[in-house]
Amino acid sequence: MNSALLVEQRPVRRRLLISGIVQGVGFRPFVFRLATRLSLGGVVRNTPAGVVVEAEGTVAQLQRLQEEIVSSHPPAARIERVTVEELSPLGENSFAIELSGVSGEVLAGVSPDLAVCRECVNELFDPANRRYLYPFINCTNCGPRFSIVHKIPYDRKNTSMKVFTMCLECRREFHDPYDRRFHAQPNGCPECGPQLWLADSSGRRIAEAGEAVRQACERLARGGIVAVRGIGGFHLAVDAFNDQAVQELRRRKRRSAKPLAVMVGDLEVARRMCRLSLAEEALLEDPASPIVLALAKPDSRLSREIAPGQERIGLMLPYTPFHHLLFAQGLEALVMTSGNVAGEPICTANQEALSRLAGIADCFLLHDREIVTRTDDSVVFHAAGRVRTIRRSRGMAPRPLAVRYDGPQVLGVGAELKNTVCLLAGPQAVVSQHLGDLKNLHAYRFFEETIDHLLRLYQGTPEWVARDLHPDYLSSRWAENSGLPVIAVQHHHAHLAAVLAEHGEQGPAIGVILDGAGLGTDNTVWGGEILVGDLNGFTRAGHIEPMPLPGGDKAVAEPWRTAVGYLACACGQGFPELPWMREYQVDEVAELVRTKTATVSTSSCGRLFDAVAAILGRALAAEYEAQGPMELEALAAAGPLAPFSWALEEQGDTVILLVRPLIREVVEAAVSGMDPEVLSARFHRTVVEMFAEAAEQVAARTGIQRVILAGGVFANQLVLEGMCRKLTRAGFEVLLPSLFPAGDGAISLGQAVVARNLVVSGRGKGG
Ligand SMILES: [Zn+2]
Ligand SMILES: [Zn+2]
Ligand SMILES: [Zn+2]
Repeated sequence: MNSALLVEQRPVRRRLLISGIVQGVGFRPFVFRLATRLSLGGVVRNTPAGVVVEAEGTVAQLQRLQEEIVSSHPPAARIERVTVEELSPLGENSFAIELSGVSGEVLAGVSPDLAVCRECVNELFDPANRRYLYPFINCTNCGPRFSIVHKIPYDRKNTSMKVFTMCLECRREFHDPYDRRFHAQPNGCPECGPQLWLADSSGRRIAEAGEAVRQACERLARGGIVAVRGIGGFHLAVDAFNDQAVQELRRRKRRSAKPLAVMVGDLEVARRMCRLSLAEEALLEDPASPIVLALAKPDSRLSREIAPGQERIGLMLPYTPFHHLLFAQGLEALVMTSGNVAGEPICTANQEALSRLAGIADCFLLHDREIVTRTDDSVVFHAAGRVRTIRRSRGMAPRPLAVRYDGPQVLGVGAELKNTVCLLAGPQAVVSQHLGDLKNLHAYRFFEETIDHLLRLYQGTPEWVARDLHPDYLSSRWAENSGLPVIAVQHHHAHLAAVLAEHGEQGPAIGVILDGAGLGTDNTVWGGEILVGDLNGFTRAGHIEPMPLPGGDKAVAEPWRTAVGYLACACGQGFPELPWMREYQVDEVAELVRTKTATVSTSSCGRLFDAVAAILGRALAAEYEAQGPMELEALAAAGPLAPFSWALEEQGDTVILLVRPLIREVVEAAVSGMDPEVLSARFHRTVVEMFAEAAEQVAARTGIQRVILAGGVFANQLVLEGMCRKLTRAGFEVLLPSLFPAGDGAISLGQAVVARNLVVSGRGKGG
């Protein structure tokens, strides 16, 4: 035997630290089975930094272990890094799973909820399986997580599964490291686990289990509205092909225009409904199972009432076993919209749903697994090569973001619309699920509960609270009453910082922040901004010229007022008359602008979109946020079209983007009967070119070649891709948000990282 071979066979011991999403996703039993198969000795355990594997065997065996960990890990896991350390062999030849202590799990936190996996779906429809048609089947790779946890560690006794005592067979699976259900905390079966039933609108049980599903489907097929209790809350379901049913749902929910999400039985049906890229298909099948915005096919048979005025619809696949059971009854596509009263958070408890959704749903598909934490469906789309998040909730929250720098614990409390909160503790930021508009009382309570829950789950003890500069936001008031020192962070600076944090960068960068509204340091409303900044501070390097917003917030809700304000400002009092104007008090509003009465000034980009949409007669009174801009985007014709006029003006070190020429040309085009699709496309092109050119001017002055795009306007795919393409071609490094929203859902994250930096650099001021 030659000496090389001897070296090969000598036992070695290595420690692998695997970081990423590796906890609560079946990683330890996977490593156990793999190591045992490879005849290795050692141990696997969870630590705050990730999963640690200590393995002992030959070099070749250990090499195999490493390779297979990377190539065949559980589907819901995401490996970010594997670091290897050589140890002295201990002579171990058996492998063990070390059960976690309390402290080790703290930072690891809780996995997001995971869509039911393929193996479980196969068992669900296997008549020989003991869980045949059992609506709550799950395993180590799938099932509810975040939505059922009261506190850590993530053990059954700390979840809403506590009340279900496992039967002998379930217990055997739970304790067997070779079983797919080893330590699957929500494990259960028809004998011992949660149950499903159908209730009528008075709450009376009318059918159980399989019969409940069958009757619910019958109602749906007849055009009925069924409230379905899911993972993170209730849905309201109707047949997505039935115009009348969808109309009736809209009438009862008092929602005439807001797009509704659609769940389809499988990917095949999804392909018939929408034109899907491979990337979009992958998003649909992701364990997070989000709503994916995709282009609807004209011949899809989906009711036109689902997303009026939109080209894209929100599509998702079944993500719980009982969703699969519904579709197994022959339904193809269901509208699955949030089970809430407009503006309120979604219902989670049976009684709550029965009372609050009483006038909306005909019957209720209920179950007895309590929802501890409310999570809406997440909403994403695919653009500029990556996933883009609009709403980050079920399946995504509370996945932590690793941050590279350490400092004091900070709680970011976000803005006011589309609020989230963020706990920045040690090397990670945990951003909550989407909480909604805090001005709604129920949403505000949800905000308070979420702060408590997050601090309990992560044993957080924040030393600072970061809030928006706007003192009247309810989140800001909460911060001021928290008893902790407070740091106020400017809204658009927080947008910039959130993207830096997501990319693990500190800055500086040029931030093109296109947004609805945020209070500026000069006490005016900002929102079409070019900032130069880092995690510590910023300067305002450019912005849209101040435009009048007659009536302030009233104009946000009724964009026709914004349009009149912009027209009065751009064209003077004698602005052209548009067909819709006869029905509104246009003269009164123009007078407010002329006399500067009850009129605030704004550089908002969102309002510019509102104004142009309203000039075209779209969303004159908006039913939902960004309705006008969304309809305007859907309208835009494809192909290269010339931009309208705009101008840049240097005022000292600031670039002013003059939009009055643009408004004048838009209204002239509208009056002269330009095709609205062409008009919209040219408007989008103008916004892109105007901001790209302004960013280039700022870059020329500062020498900074990195541009960040953020703010709610980047939910607009045309603006996002147009800007990204233009700036990349001009040689910039462009950073975009991906797993966190471009809009206000990321404000809490930005606030927290800025505040921590200010504290660490000694610039934070207690307030
Ligand atoms: Zn499973
Ligand atoms: Zn059981
Ligand atoms: Zn914002």
